[in-house]
Amino acid sequence: MQRVVIVGGGVIGCAIAYHLAIHPLFDGTVAVIERDPTYRRASSALSASSIRVQFSTPVNIALSQFGWSFIEAAEQDLAVDGQGPALGLQAPGYLTLASDTGAAILSDNHAVQLAQGGDVALLSPAEIGARFPWIDIAGVAAGALGLKGEGWFNGPALHMALRAKARALGVLFRTGEVVGFTRRFGAINGCELSDGEVVAAECVVNAAGAWAGQVAALAGVDLPVRPRRRMVYIFACRTALADFPLLIDPSGLWVRPEGPQFICGFCPEPGEDEADDAPLEIDETIFHDRLWPVLAARVPAFEAIRLTGGWAGYYDMNLWDHNGLLGAHPEEPSLLHAAGFSGHGLQHAPGIGRGMAELIAEGRFRSLDLSPLSVERLARGERLVERCVI
Ligand SMILES: Cc1cc2nc3c(=O)[nH]c(=O)nc-3n(C[C@H](O)[C@H](O)[C@H](O)COP(=O)(O)OP(=O)(O)OC[C@H]3O[C@@H](n4cnc5c(N)ncnc54)[C@H](O)[C@@H]3O)c2cc1C
Repeated sequence: MQRVVIVGGGVIGCAIAYHLAIHPLFDGTVAVIERDPTYRRASSALSASSIRVQFSTPVNIALSQFGWSFIEAAEQDLAVDGQGPALGLQAPGYLTLASDTGAAILSDNHAVQLAQGGDVALLSPAEIGARFPWIDIAGVAAGALGLKGEGWFNGPALHMALRAKARALGVLFRTGEVVGFTRRFGAINGCELSDGEVVAAECVVNAAGAWAGQVAALAGVDLPVRPRRRMVYIFACRTALADFPLLIDPSGLWVRPEGPQFICGFCPEPGEDEADDAPLEIDETIFHDRLWPVLAARVPAFEAIRLTGGWAGYYDMNLWDHNGLLGAHPEEPSLLHAAGFSGHGLQHAPGIGRGMAELIAEGRFRSLDLSPLSVERLARGERLVERCVI
């Protein structure tokens, strides 16, 4: 009987555990080892919980499409003792605005999204203005609006529902920090915890999120995943703005409603990224000096807003090409990875969990070909570049 041990009990670890527990060909045991069951610093608890098909890579679009259908069915499929989770899925879409320089890329991405069955409309500035009269379209050459399968949901509730369902299906959740691996005939056969205990396993999965590079290093693997701080600001605006989507400005700023307020953030410029251990605090000066002027220029009603709070979390950044890394590194075949999702791991967790369960139980990705995300591309020196990372 195969014993699977998953390092990290965030949404990715829980999704893998759940999908293994329901896989018809898997008859082993699953244990998830999580060092902090309060998830205080886990990305799954600190995300903006949004989901989109507006990616440039077919595999990312397909993962989002599966994620959406999974979330829609979660109330039934993840119910425990007849009680299903309320995930609050909302579908106002993403509206990606492009300037003259970005319009051709927006149009190329749109073609990829259509080919994947995405329901995304390309809009002219006049059409954007007519549909969203509260937007100032100055400097906008085109926009892409998701008409279906895009919006946001309660991410922490999805994480907790996957965990509760996995537990109900027999997955063991243990508190502990993995500090090393044990080996037999060179192959990893267990995880060593900080209290000295060893958890034996035939299969170990690294799902340690932003810390996956550190866990990989314990096995001598150089996985280019690092914690990168991202800040989310909450603000209040008195004016009602109808049908507000998740709006992405050509500057890289994004903003969307969150209950009666709004949340926003931004994508740092290349080279602007911070150290691995940047403190998980927001920098208010950035909001006032940098984001507010852009917000007010794009949406004049945002001239009069009030910063009410915010939070910071770590993106699980894959420095190689900003995309997930799945499976074993050729130099260490006895350790599987599911990490490096670079800010889109929550929406992709259902599909990643299903794919990793198939890889473990059947030796291949069956439902959806996730091989473009294979770790082997590192050794081959290939990049799978996703152009739509925010
Ligand atoms: C500000 C922000 C906004 C985001 N917005 C979105 C969004 O809108 N949509 C989206 O899809 N994604 C978004 N993301 C990304 C998403 O949150 C992550 O990709 C996803 O949560 C990664 O899940 P995970 O389980 O891999 O990592 P985590 O949730 O971080 O879980 C990893 C776990 O591993 C544990 N761990 C680490 N090392 C060890 C060890 N040695 N031993 C035991 N346990 C260990 C940690 O304690 C942690 O709980 C956002 C992220 C941030 C920070």
